Amino acid sequence: MFAENDPRLSQLLDGIVRLASGDLRSRIEVSPARDELDAIIMGTNLLAEDLQIIYEELEQRVAVRTQLLHEAHVEMQKMAMEDALTGLANRSALLSALKSAQGDGAEDEPPVILLLDLDAFKSINDTFGHTAGDQVLVTVGERLRDAVRSTDVVARLGGDEFAIVMPATGIDQATIVGHRILAALEQPIELHDRSIRCGASLGLSVGDARQGPEEMLMHADVAMYASKAEGLNRLHIFEPGLLLVRRLRTQLLDDLRTALKGEGLVMHYQPVVELATGRIEGVEALIRWNHPTRGLIMPDEFIPLAEEAGLISELGLWVLKNAVEQLRRWIADSVVDSRFSVRINISPTDLQSLQFIEDVRCVLKETAVPPDQVVLELTEMAIVKGNELDRYSLSGLRGLGVGIEIDDFGTGYSSINYLRTLPVDRVKVDRSLIVGLGTDPTQSALVAAILQLIRACGLEAVWEGVETAEQAEHLRSLGCLSAQGYYFSRPLPPEQIPALVAAQSSKAT
Ligand code: C2E
Ligand code: MG
Ligand code: MG
Repeated sequence: MFAENDPRLSQLLDGIVRLASGDLRSRIEVSPARDELDAIIMGTNLLAEDLQIIYEELEQRVAVRTQLLHEAHVEMQKMAMEDALTGLANRSALLSALKSAQGDGAEDEPPVILLLDLDAFKSINDTFGHTAGDQVLVTVGERLRDAVRSTDVVARLGGDEFAIVMPATGIDQATIVGHRILAALEQPIELHDRSIRCGASLGLSVGDARQGPEEMLMHADVAMYASKAEGLNRLHIFEPGLLLVRRLRTQLLDDLRTALKGEGLVMHYQPVVELATGRIEGVEALIRWNHPTRGLIMPDEFIPLAEEAGLISELGLWVLKNAVEQLRRWIADSVVDSRFSVRINISPTDLQSLQFIEDVRCVLKETAVPPDQVVLELTEMAIVKGNELDRYSLSGLRGLGVGIEIDDFGTGYSSINYLRTLPVDRVKVDRSLIVGLGTDPTQSALVAAILQLIRACGLEAVWEGVETAEQAEHLRSLGCLSAQGYYFSRPLPPEQIPALVAAQSSKAT
């Protein structure tokens, strides 16, 4: 037995307190007595030993787990900063690269951001499929990386939009790089047995210390849009004036969306005249926009906008419904007879969508107008550049019984052979081909030749843009059948058409 005042007791207590406070390395000294108290002390030491081992193992496990977590975090961060398809940086990586480029030495040249959008990507995707589209994106990514320094950050922002941050570069050097990129992307891309060309539109913006990365990116975007508006394969440098253009455009688009849902869009109708008799054989439906503050806006100003903003199908459907419904009313009111047709302009985008054929079918069914009194006008460019799907759509439309006419004929480059194979009935010759008719003697021979060519393909022609009596007379004497133009009538609101038709038909009979 041990004595109550045995000093080992307080040593034991001290030891237990130290262990309890977490000092698992501390041990309690065993005395040479080797009695029961020593046995308790040894037991306590063993317990401390075990605890220490368990604790150390635990610490090791925590360290391993922490390492794993860290690695996963790094991987996730990489994934969050990387575009999976091309392996380029993504939008967030680009923005953070821009931020740090802006922070770099203030005496240095400022960073430049280059934004790039492929010109022909949509049609490549549509024509060759998404796998081919992906390959094009990967190739473009590689070419971009090859065209810049290793310190520049190349990113894909999504779709066919790429961006490059060039730290400490300056606009002159960046412009050189921009042109190098344009040249690189003009080179054909080899895909299996095909060779594809896909140019790009570029926008450059120089950073300044007061700008945030988002603002710089927006400026490059504005410049890129200016390039796109100018045509393919261009490069534009941001200037503040472009912001105003963008603001007006956005405002106009908002207004157009509102107009499509409510009021403001109206159709005007321009007579197509039988040259021999002056009879109005039909009208062309031409859209106008009665803008609440800007007055009447012509289609050349807002159709391209609608096209770009993806509103064209909605607009096309609106026109289709409106014009065919107008025809239905004229037929119901006996304003026009069964030989009278309404011509409706169709955008190339409409031709690309199979839904459009369905829309035409539905509108014809709902209004019950005879399909042969509806003629769809498609531009020559849309038909010539069109793909198999367009051909299919054309045949589908023809199958519904509506007429198909090639608009603005003579502005593109359709070969005679091509004309012969197309499922169309008529061509509308562009007004540029008859400008000098009546004053320039050589023009008459040209018109005669064009007429012969069209007839050789088994088609008929409508001559557009007739402005003078001389032009009308010349066309008539050459044997042309139909014409349209300010000489006969400007495009008119629908309520003025009945009187005009009545007047002409009384003259013609
Ligand atoms: P387009 O189909 O070639 O239409 C003929 C254009 O020439 C019309 O201009 C018409 O007003 C104008 N015009 C008619 N006669 C004469 C003339 O004697 N001299 C001159 N200088 N011009 C004449 P508008 O209405 O401004 O339409 C321009 C273009 O906008 C149209 O060209 C057509 O491509 C497009 N467009 C018009 N309405 C629609 C529509 O409802 N849908 C679609 N997708 N496009 C439309
Ligand atoms: Mg037209
Ligand atoms: Mg035309």
